[in-house]
Amino acid sequence: MSEEIAGAAQEFERSAGRLRSGLMAVAADVAPGVQPEVEESVKERRTTHGSMGRQFKISMTLPGVPWTSAAPAVSDALGAAGWCIEGGEGASGPYVKARRDGLEAGLFRQPFGAVCLWGEAPTVWFRARWKRPPRVATPQTVMPGYRLCRMCDGWGTCIECEGLGFMDGRQCIECGLGMDCSYCRGTGQQHLDS
Ligand SMILES: [Zn+2]
Ligand SMILES: [Zn+2]
Repeated sequence: MSEEIAGAAQEFERSAGRLRSGLMAVAADVAPGVQPEVEESVKERRTTHGSMGRQFKISMTLPGVPWTSAAPAVSDALGAAGWCIEGGEGASGPYVKARRDGLEAGLFRQPFGAVCLWGEAPTVWFRARWKRPPRVATPQTVMPGYRLCRMCDGWGTCIECEGLGFMDGRQCIECGLGMDCSYCRGTGQQHLDS
């Protein structure tokens, strides 16, 4: 019972579009006439309890643009567009970093010298946390001659993954995607003789 989050796809497209157009404008401003090499990717995130999110990332390499002019120009262009700028010196050299409304962007120098403008949108959650389905058996519904399953206490679902089938994005080792309690086979009950 994992719910699709209403409007997630629209929210994802909206923030990706906002980031893409913002960085395109900065690139055009900083390096007019230069055709950036654009690469887009989507990173998927899954949590232990079945939430699923996607994060949009974009990078634009600006060939032939020297760092010394690009860094201050990108800072100015992002600053003028309302981004909050932070500069620094990292292990791989100087960088520019900026934030606005949950979006992140920046500029760094690639090992072979080209400067690269990058951006990351916030993770948008497409599916909410897994909710364990209701118990299949309770003390009131247990059949004559049976008792509640000692392992799952009547839930019927796997005691590890609670019926999701996955743990940390991997197949559940307890039920192996079966999703049922392996002791009562999902009935939530055990025969009194067993
Ligand atoms: Zn059981
Ligand atoms: Zn399981």
